[in-house]
Amino acid sequence: MGRLKSYIRPHYLYIAFTMIVKLGGAVAELFVPFFMERILSEGVEPGQQHRIFIYGGLMLLCAGLCLFMNISANRMSAVSSGRITRKIRSDLFAKLNSLSARQMDELTVPSAESRLTSDTYRVNEFLARGQRLGIRAPILLVGGVVMMLTMDAMLALVLIALLPFIGLSVYLITKKSIPLYTREQSILDGMVRVVQENITGVRVIKALSKTEYEKARFEKVNDELTKTDTKAGAVTSLNNPIASLILNLGLTAVVVVGAFRVAGKGTETSVIVAFLQYFVMILNAMLGVTRIFIMASRSTASAHRVADVLELPPDLVPALFEGEVPSPVPHIEFRDVSFSYTGVGENISHLSFKLERGQTLGILGATGSGKSTVINLLMRIYDAASGAVLINGRDVRSYEKDELKAMFGAAFQNDFIAEGTIGDNIRFFRDIDGAAVASAAGDAQASEFISQKQHGMDAPVAARGNNLSGGQKQRLLIARALASDPEILVLDDASSALDYRTDAELRRALRKHHTKATTVLIAQRISSIQHADLILVLDDGKVLGSGRHDELLKNCAEYRLIAQTQMGTGEEA
Ligand code: ATP
Ligand code: MG
Repeated sequence: MGRLKSYIRPHYLYIAFTMIVKLGGAVAELFVPFFMERILSEGVEPGQQHRIFIYGGLMLLCAGLCLFMNISANRMSAVSSGRITRKIRSDLFAKLNSLSARQMDELTVPSAESRLTSDTYRVNEFLARGQRLGIRAPILLVGGVVMMLTMDAMLALVLIALLPFIGLSVYLITKKSIPLYTREQSILDGMVRVVQENITGVRVIKALSKTEYEKARFEKVNDELTKTDTKAGAVTSLNNPIASLILNLGLTAVVVVGAFRVAGKGTETSVIVAFLQYFVMILNAMLGVTRIFIMASRSTASAHRVADVLELPPDLVPALFEGEVPSPVPHIEFRDVSFSYTGVGENISHLSFKLERGQTLGILGATGSGKSTVINLLMRIYDAASGAVLINGRDVRSYEKDELKAMFGAAFQNDFIAEGTIGDNIRFFRDIDGAAVASAAGDAQASEFISQKQHGMDAPVAARGNNLSGGQKQRLLIARALASDPEILVLDDASSALDYRTDAELRRALRKHHTKATTVLIAQRISSIQHADLILVLDDGKVLGSGRHDELLKNCAEYRLIAQTQMGTGEEA
């Protein structure tokens, strides 16, 4: 919890107050058996019956105070822990959003999700219950012992002698359970991953009758989780029985020793009765302390997992730009760029090209050849391992993040469609007026289907665009990319679900309304990119050929082959 200290610090005063109230409740609780002992010893004397009422009243008062203060303190603990966790959660969420793609690759999405949910929940639980038990249990434990010492030191010593044994067993058990709980949490990550994949892929899983396979996969993580949980549970479950065994032994010892002392007039029966009460109290307190230890061990693991993310250093920070910007400069330039996602093998090797303002780049290549990776590097979603990506003659690393992002309008492969309206999705939280949205929709060839919807631009879109067809989704994404009238337009496989004619209309609209935009087009079809000023044919991260359509037809065998299969002749269809 130490690493989250800065979140708890602002609430120290409030927590201290909670603890004081809780302390009051515990002290009141301690006095209940004390007054009971008084009734039994003084109230039973002849002519002293009124004392029964006095002490009885005091007992009731203590019980009432205890109830009131406990409830108030528990509420306050819920308030402060709630506020602390809320702040942690929102910071964690913001941090997760600020992580670079590389950091997210390392963290993995399911792990991020469970850190945001179950881990912050554990932290919350500890903060809340820690405040409740953290003061009450030790006070009852120590207070109970003190009360007993004042009543009959000899009898109390019998019990105190047992405390180290209980302490030792708690320590050993806790030490063993901590790593188990840490492991459990990472298995939970795996489980979230399986569930997430399962839900995302529910259609294909059903279509390919993989339900049984998925069930088996889930069973496997489920089993593993259960096993670790059972093991951790088995270890920690030793606590309660061992504690009660030791205390029951102590109880027997006290009753036996006490009986002898009563017989020898060393103590009173009423003291023995009060002692029994304190026993129960101390037993519960002891178990309370144990529970705190276990909770602490579980939540410490969680707190570390949360802090691990919160303390991640910012990646992709802007670098100082050195040197003059020569003019005139190409709008976009890749200078001998190499890159690898995992550090094993290269996903882009030694890529160089230049693009003037307003020109169009077409990228063609087999699946996995690195087409989307070029965009990831251009938009600085990842940093190149060597070489440089330049926009306006400046290294992309030297731009502020927002400055860089503002230059682009992009439709990624399988891009995200949010729940909301069609208009919301085109605007996508940017300050874009209705006319621009409508004209973007027109250019993206989306107007027709939008006007057919009952509410037009205000027609609802389900989460992930589930109520739209593949082609409608693509048009929406293209409209989003065009809406801000960007300096650089990136369309990654964005027209694959459009028919040839619509694709041609789209290109015509781009030429007409977005002439100034430098465009990067990734496509499967040669017809989509054949008019580009520069076409790159990629294979396994390397350039097989580059140039204009007619040049490539002459010089690049692979391109010619693709053209022949797609267009029959290799000439324009
Ligand atoms: P497609 O036509 O299927 O979209 P692509 O040409 O866009 O393919 P890229 O997405 O650029 O392919 O991927 C290039 C290579 O990098 C692939 O081999 C892919 O497995 C790998 N790759 C892509 N993203 C990651 C990632 N986040 N982590 C690790 N490897 C990745
Ligand atoms: Mg791709």
